[in-house]
Amino acid sequence: MSDSEPQTQSFQAEVRQLLDIVIHSLYTDKEIFVRELISNASDSLEKLRLKQLTENSVFEGDLPLEINITTDEEANTITFSDHGIGMNRQELTDNLGTIARSGSKEFLQALKEKGDTNASVIGQFGVGFYSVFMAAEKVEVYTHSWDAEAEHLKWESDGQSGYSIYESEGQQRGAKIVVYLKEDSKEFATEATIKNVIEQYSRFVSFPLNLNGERVNTVDAIWLKSKKEISEEEYKEFYQYCAHATDEPRHTLHFSTDAPLNLNALLFSPDENHERFGFGQMKPGVSLYCRKVLIDSEPQGLLPEWLRFLRGVVDSEDLPLNISRETMQDSALVQKLNRLLTKRFLKHLASQAKNEPEKYQEFFERFGRFLKEGIATAPEHHEALGGLLRFESSMLDKGEKTSLADYLTRSKEEQEEIYYLVGLDRDAMAAGPYLEAFQKRGIEVALFTDQIDDYIMETLREFKGKKLVSADRAEIELDDLVESESKLSEEDGNSLVEWLTTTLGDKVEKVELGKRLVSHPVVALQSQDAPSGQVRAMMEAMGENAPEQKARLEFNPNHELVAKLHALKGENEEVAAKVANQLADNALLAAGLVKNPAGVVAGMNDLLGSLMK
Ligand code: ADP
Ligand code: MG
Repeated sequence: MSDSEPQTQSFQAEVRQLLDIVIHSLYTDKEIFVRELISNASDSLEKLRLKQLTENSVFEGDLPLEINITTDEEANTITFSDHGIGMNRQELTDNLGTIARSGSKEFLQALKEKGDTNASVIGQFGVGFYSVFMAAEKVEVYTHSWDAEAEHLKWESDGQSGYSIYESEGQQRGAKIVVYLKEDSKEFATEATIKNVIEQYSRFVSFPLNLNGERVNTVDAIWLKSKKEISEEEYKEFYQYCAHATDEPRHTLHFSTDAPLNLNALLFSPDENHERFGFGQMKPGVSLYCRKVLIDSEPQGLLPEWLRFLRGVVDSEDLPLNISRETMQDSALVQKLNRLLTKRFLKHLASQAKNEPEKYQEFFERFGRFLKEGIATAPEHHEALGGLLRFESSMLDKGEKTSLADYLTRSKEEQEEIYYLVGLDRDAMAAGPYLEAFQKRGIEVALFTDQIDDYIMETLREFKGKKLVSADRAEIELDDLVESESKLSEEDGNSLVEWLTTTLGDKVEKVELGKRLVSHPVVALQSQDAPSGQVRAMMEAMGENAPEQKARLEFNPNHELVAKLHALKGENEEVAAKVANQLADNALLAAGLVKNPAGVVAGMNDLLGSLMK
């Protein structure tokens, strides 16, 4: 084999950074490079099989679709070869010299920040190939593309700064990857080690896998078997195989249906949600099969975006084998599958929530964001998703979680609304002006603390026919408290309202004496259809102008401060006006309706100045 003059290129900067971490900081789970190279060989064989369906001829069309691994202890090498799709010169550069996917870049960022992150997830971020450099001091990729016109090539790199591509006569179709092992990774040149690794990670590969000439896997479509035939251990191993994972699946949902669609599905959820830690968006990971034949490993539209954390296999006999990726998303059949799978998974969650509430709670803490994303985007699943929300409540002890359904079991039958508040945390909400009116009247308020909950509740709108109403909205009619004893006469009250209306001018929509307050002097209330403070903040953050929003102010006639304000306006109207403005600003601030908090502080300082004259 005579090598030509090489074409030498540097790795893209991101690849160099990734390799630097792979080589210098990742010492655990080294063996996963074996899984990643096998998985690439298997992907490449799948692609070849699909090519054969659409192309008239592929280069060396008769070569067997299998994966061969050979170990050589003397040479200290391990070699992976497949007769899959192979790569041409451009593809070698694009696939083994750059990182294209956006998720991969975020993965790199997270790796850099966390340093010792578990390397075993590397394959989930579209950069599995580079894991080979954990164990290799040099890698050679011999390849010929499926396209007969392409060149016979060899790619070579030590994983440092770049790689070289040579013309290299005599390549067969596919790829042969020779891994020259580092001194400290010699064990991967031993047959027994590799056999173990394959057992652990790669037994479900759907092509024959030979190790030093001997078949080591059985091709097994476990999703078509009946549940009784499969052990927990096998489920776990299958999950780890399809998810490129090493953890235990959190949910395992295996079912089949005949009507309205013929379907076998085996779905898993992972233990941890990596997106929580800034790892970037997960790629969807449920593959679509038709009678054991892979149609697409990343089918568009098979599941909604917000279920992108699910892993596994869906097999439907009703799918036409020649369905193309482009038509897939629009196909009515795929949409039906999508609805059916989503419903089944949500039902599975609901039954876990009922039977194993603690386990469900843990799932919700890690994956609840996905369910909320579902509420934001999938009205057809609102009822199910609403039922799966968990939150604290004014009626329960701190830390205890409840659901909308449980809220309804505690509320009075005639209560037409479900009340909620969204705030920074429970204590802040308890200290604020909104909760106490409900507390005093024995009405429960659901307490949400996630930034996006305001938006989520406004999108959800109702649950089981009961309207979801934010406790800081104006239209709520709360009965008078019996014990209320006004510190102001009706006449004084009216005169105060009149004075406040002129004094506050167009700062507010309206001034009233309210009934809902107990220990706070004043509260700002917005109308129900106005965007809430947090939603306004979101709109602003996205560069949209939130509409001008004025609130109604309810003053509490039973409050000392309000009674004193009435007295003060007779004695020193100038200071009284400053106090009134400050009270109004404070209430608007609490409601998230002040665009410029610095102005409120200036007003406060001015007021303090007047008081110390
Ligand atoms: P991923 O498999 O998630 O795409 P990898 O880093 O494992 O990411 O591989 C990068 C790319 O290199 C693959 O997408 C594929 O295009 C190419 N590749 C890797 N191994 C092979 C192979 N054995 N045959 C053909 N192409 C391969
Ligand atoms: Mg890969």
